[in-house]
Amino acid sequence: MTDFKIFTERLKDGTIQEVSEEYSADFLDVSEDELCLSHLVQVTGMAYIADQDLIMSLEAKTKATLPCRVCNKDCAIHLETPRFTLCVPLSEIGTGVFDFSKDLREAILLEIPVFAECENGNCPERGELERYLKKPVEGKNSSTETCGNAFAGL
Ligand SMILES: [Zn+2]
Repeated sequence: MTDFKIFTERLKDGTIQEVSEEYSADFLDVSEDELCLSHLVQVTGMAYIADQDLIMSLEAKTKATLPCRVCNKDCAIHLETPRFTLCVPLSEIGTGVFDFSKDLREAILLEIPVFAECENGNCPERGELERYLKKPVEGKNSSTETCGNAFAGL
């Protein structure tokens, strides 16, 4: 299987088709400046027919490159979809050929985080940023008051 097609005729006798493929990331068709998806997409799962539906159970893994939100350096992150199931009525697959690339693409794009951070979330420049962002703590709770009183007596 080198494309995203499932031939439903071949499954009508109850055959379970294993899916275990690596696809070029081209089908993800992402044209964002900052987001780069160029690693192979590993897809595993299966396809079979139950009653009048084509059932596909799939999971996909790949990597994306995004700029670190702290230092802006490119960082590679793992993308992994949870196993998801497609259920498509055979009546909607008039041609007998189901192309699952669109559903697969959507499932993968859902996993892309809004932010990425290098070094698995421990960007070396994060400390500096946090110091910069730190706000003075306001004494709202009673313990601050008690503390204040204690010191007032000294
Ligand atoms: Zn960073």
